[in-house]
Amino acid sequence: MTTTVAFVGLGHMGGPMAANLVRAGHRVLGHDLVESCLSAAVANGVERAGSAAEAASAADAVITMLPAGRHVLSLYGPEGLLAAARPGTLFVDCSTIDVADSRAAHAAAEAAGHRSLDAPVSGGVVGAEAGTLTFMAGGEEAAFAAAEPLLSVMGRKAVHCGAAGAGQAAKICNNMILGVSMIAVSEAFVLAESLGLSDQALYDVASAASGQCWALTVNCPVPGPVPASPANRDYRPGFAAPLMAKDLGLAANAVRAGGVEAELGLRAAELYARFAEGAGADQDFSGIVRAIRAASAGTTDPRKGVTA
Ligand code: NAD
Repeated sequence: MTTTVAFVGLGHMGGPMAANLVRAGHRVLGHDLVESCLSAAVANGVERAGSAAEAASAADAVITMLPAGRHVLSLYGPEGLLAAARPGTLFVDCSTIDVADSRAAHAAAEAAGHRSLDAPVSGGVVGAEAGTLTFMAGGEEAAFAAAEPLLSVMGRKAVHCGAAGAGQAAKICNNMILGVSMIAVSEAFVLAESLGLSDQALYDVASAASGQCWALTVNCPVPGPVPASPANRDYRPGFAAPLMAKDLGLAANAVRAGGVEAELGLRAAELYARFAEGAGADQDFSGIVRAIRAASAGTTDPRKGVTA
């Protein structure tokens, strides 16, 4: 069945996601503030809308893929998408945003008589292009069921995590595990170097022992043991450090709001914020190993390090 979709935010992720919807036979009305993003989407079959509200007014479903909660809330706000859309329109926000902002967006959509789902993704630009994203969704079961035919075009897996905001909650909890574990793995490699243990020897033991984790065996922060990891291509992303810093910042907000004792999550947010503002601005998040090595000067070879 052909659905008319308004797609707002046609950047690195939204552009290829919208193109996949077109390829699957859906009509996609697109909008972005940046002309080059919009024209690239039009070249892939997206119809140019004069404004986000104009796209929403003609759509069965409105998908947003925006940088942060403030962009979503301002587009949903007075005179925005919610007011322009026909009653009962399905709103799917795929952006990664604050859980509290996501819940506020749900409440506004429902108060305006619409159905609403938060559905942030993992899988990055490669997954967006290949249509292999994983969606983690929050909202009512009926909204999830209505969105599934669209999510299955843009991704390989969609998990309904619970009520409004549950998708965002799952995303930031997962990425807090990932950020902390990448720092732990990186610290272990730098410690091993200072003890005269080779990277390969640590890898061979830890990958077959209780230190095993994704940060070690898929995205290994040192070159050599895992040939496909970003460390082997001078830390070109991959998953860029600023995106990890953003997600850990969202997790830190939720940790503080909930009064949760999460010392490592908060510390990881600080370390990634610093790294992303410095040498890590255009690196994969595994590049944090170089900042740790540089900060350990005196115990390891500082020539291998890059300051944060
Ligand atoms: P991006 O900056 O490339 O794209 C966002 C787009 O939104 C931009 O083109 C921008 O012009 C547009 N935009 C902003 N305000 C707008 C408005 N008012 N109206 C219309 N368009 C507007 O970002 P991205 O990398 O595509 O990421 C989008 C979201 O996906 C973010 O929340 C990010 O955290 C999340 N995410 C990104 C990745 C990744 O690898 N890039 C992975 C997972 C999740």
